[in-house]
Amino acid sequence: MQTVSNSIIVEKVKHSKIDKVDFNNLSFGKYFTDHMMVCDFKNGAWEVPRIVPYQPISLDPSAKIFHYGQSVFEGMKAYKDKDQNVWLFRPLENQKRINISSKRLAMPEFPEDYFMDGLKALLKLDQKWIPTAEGSSLYIRPFVFASGCGFHASPSDEYKFIIACSPSASYFAGKVKVLIEEKYSRSANGGVGFAKAGGNYAGQFYPTQLAVEKGYNQVIWTDDNNHEYIEEAGAMNIFVRINDTLITSPTSDRILDGITRKSIIDIAKDENIAVEVRKITVKEVVEASENGSLKEMFGAGTAAVISPIATFGYQGRDYDLPEIKNSYASTLKKRITDIQYNKAEDKFGWRY
Ligand code: PMP
Repeated sequence: MQTVSNSIIVEKVKHSKIDKVDFNNLSFGKYFTDHMMVCDFKNGAWEVPRIVPYQPISLDPSAKIFHYGQSVFEGMKAYKDKDQNVWLFRPLENQKRINISSKRLAMPEFPEDYFMDGLKALLKLDQKWIPTAEGSSLYIRPFVFASGCGFHASPSDEYKFIIACSPSASYFAGKVKVLIEEKYSRSANGGVGFAKAGGNYAGQFYPTQLAVEKGYNQVIWTDDNNHEYIEEAGAMNIFVRINDTLITSPTSDRILDGITRKSIIDIAKDENIAVEVRKITVKEVVEASENGSLKEMFGAGTAAVISPIATFGYQGRDYDLPEIKNSYASTLKKRITDIQYNKAEDKFGWRY
C-alpha cells in the first residue's frame, strides 16, 4: 500500500445543481451531489485522489468490468444533527470491508488515508446536500471497478475508485412481505457472498423478480446446500426473535459481515436482550410461527436500518408475524439512529 500525503486535487463545479432537487421528494439513490471523488490505479499504484464535478465516465468497450464483473462497492451514510454537524457511522468498517471485498475479486486494496481524506473533503464540499428531514441522510457509495482493457479473462491492470453521494429519504417504508427461497442461492461456500461484489446483486435480481411477481417484496436467502437455514434478507442481514431471544446467523463465506448487524448485536446486549448468534433453520422459524413463539423478524442494513417483516411465505403458505408493542425492532432502531443522528450518547464510540 502506498504512503500518501493529504493533498487531494479539487475541481469545483461552476454552478451547483442543488436548486433543481426537491428535497421534500427525495426517494432513495435518485439524485447525485455536485461532486465525486475519483482515484485511478495505474502502473501498479493509486494516483492522487481528485474531487471533480459529478459526471459520466468514458470507458473502452473492452474494459474488464463489462466482461468479467470485477467490481465491488460499499454503502454508508452521512447524517446531519440539529446543529448542522455532519456525522458518519463507523466509516472505518466500510473502509476495511471494501478492501476485504477487493481482495476476493483480485483487485488492489485502497489506502485508508485516501479513503478517509477523500471522503471528508467530498463531504465538506457537498455538505449542503445532506438532508435534514427525519430518517433522511446522504447515502454514500464508494466503489471500485476494473477499467483496464482487453478481452483476456484475467484481472485488470487498471482500476477506478469512485465515491458518489446521493441525498436520500429512508429506503423502505413500512413492513415487508418476504419469501423464503427454496430454489435459488445468492452465495456458496468458497464463493463471494461475504464480499460486496456487484455480481452478487445482479444474481439476486431474477429470483427477487419472481418473488415480486408472487406478491412479495423481498427474498429470504437460505443456504445453497439444502435451503435449510435462513441466512440473509434481500440485501440485509436477518434477525429473528423467538420468545424474548434475538437470533442472527453467524457470518460466513456466504453472509456479508454487516455493520448494522454487529451494531445491533452490541446494542441488544446493552439493552439486556438475550442474543444468540447461531444458525437458524427454516423449520424452526415455521414451527415458532405455528406455536406462537415467533415474535419478530427483521432485516438490518445501512440503507433501511431495520426493516420489520410482516409476513413470510414458505412452500406456498403465508405466515403472519404478530403485531408487537415495544418491539425489539423499534427499540433497536431508535437506539442506533439516535447514535447516528447525534441525538443520544454514543457509549460505543461509533460516531465519527
Ligand atoms: N447483507 C448484504 C448482502 C448487503 O448488501 C448489506 C448491505 N451492505 C447488508 C447485509 C447489511 O450490511 P450493512 O449493515 O453494513 O449495510
